Amino acid sequence: METEKVKVLIIGSGPAGYTAAIYASRANLSPVLVQGLQAGGQLTQTTEIENFPGYPNGVDGNQMMEEFRQQAERLGTDIRFGTVTKVDFADGRHLVTVDDEKLIDAEAVIIATGATAKYLGLPSEEKYRGSGVSACATCDGFFYRKKDVAVVGGGDTACEEATYLAHLCNKVYMIVRKNFLRASKAMQERVMNTPNIEILFEHNTLDLFGDGVVEGANLVYRQGTPDEERRQIKIDGFFLAIGHHPNSAVFQPFVKTDEDGYIITEPNSSRTNVPGVFACGDVMDRTYRQAIVAAGSGCKAALDAERYLLSRG
Ligand code: NDP
Repeated sequence: METEKVKVLIIGSGPAGYTAAIYASRANLSPVLVQGLQAGGQLTQTTEIENFPGYPNGVDGNQMMEEFRQQAERLGTDIRFGTVTKVDFADGRHLVTVDDEKLIDAEAVIIATGATAKYLGLPSEEKYRGSGVSACATCDGFFYRKKDVAVVGGGDTACEEATYLAHLCNKVYMIVRKNFLRASKAMQERVMNTPNIEILFEHNTLDLFGDGVVEGANLVYRQGTPDEERRQIKIDGFFLAIGHHPNSAVFQPFVKTDEDGYIITEPNSSRTNVPGVFACGDVMDRTYRQAIVAAGSGCKAALDAERYLLSRG
């Protein structure tokens, strides 16, 4: 296989990857950025973004990521299609295989592969994605002001999203498959003390319906038991909060992750356990998962990579 030597390889094309690219380009590190399966990352799945500073009138997610890409390219990043299929970080090597056919030997690697929200897997979820179905209340909640919405999940994310939405919306249903919330006690109390949240325990979603946009959901209570009952709720928004998968599997033989697959970085740094390999954005951030935070961490990763390369002379 042909091997290409590069100084800095950035893997991923969300806000973290492109920001790392902008900084690495301006530091004359001639970065190569491999975009991954979903060019532009998770923001290309949302509608309008109103919480990224610098866009006073909001911006379409695809347009914003296109602008990130253009900025990185103008400053000299070599942006490529492709997905990383294998890495070899043993014994100081930084060998990265792209699409099983090209080998890149990088002096430093920045992992910015993000995370993917989990969906239930219903065909109607796919159909209404961006038209009432969202996996990010902070991104999209604003569009459902004074409306009725549902949040699926019973963890901390679901509780946080439900309380966030409760401030904006008329009513928030939480659709919880068990008969208890998995969230921390403090989060549970916040939910219980919010009058316009109704928790539907032991409910699962069968499908969504509506004319072009979500207008409601068909639910089932205690599915498969003698108590089984069908129920319909009228909602305009359906928010998934059933967890995320960090996209770290390909790196896991070498790069340490926590039990859920989030890459572990040293405190206050983007350094992973592998010298010369840095991580930024949602693949290492289980807490904030915001575009602006990912962009900031991409900046840190580029600065850390620059320092690493300088230290090697
Ligand atoms: P969790 O894995 O904690 O919770 C996922 C929730 O979704 C669970 O209630 C789970 O149900 C439910 N769920 C999963 N799959 C399905 C499905 N197919 N159908 C219906 N329901 C489903 O994920 P979170 O994103 O909430 O949290 C991830 C981690 O991040 C946790 O450690 C959490 O504590 C942490 N976190 C902390 C925050 C904070 O401290 N402020 C904020 C947000 C997250 P079940 O219980 O039945 O498995």
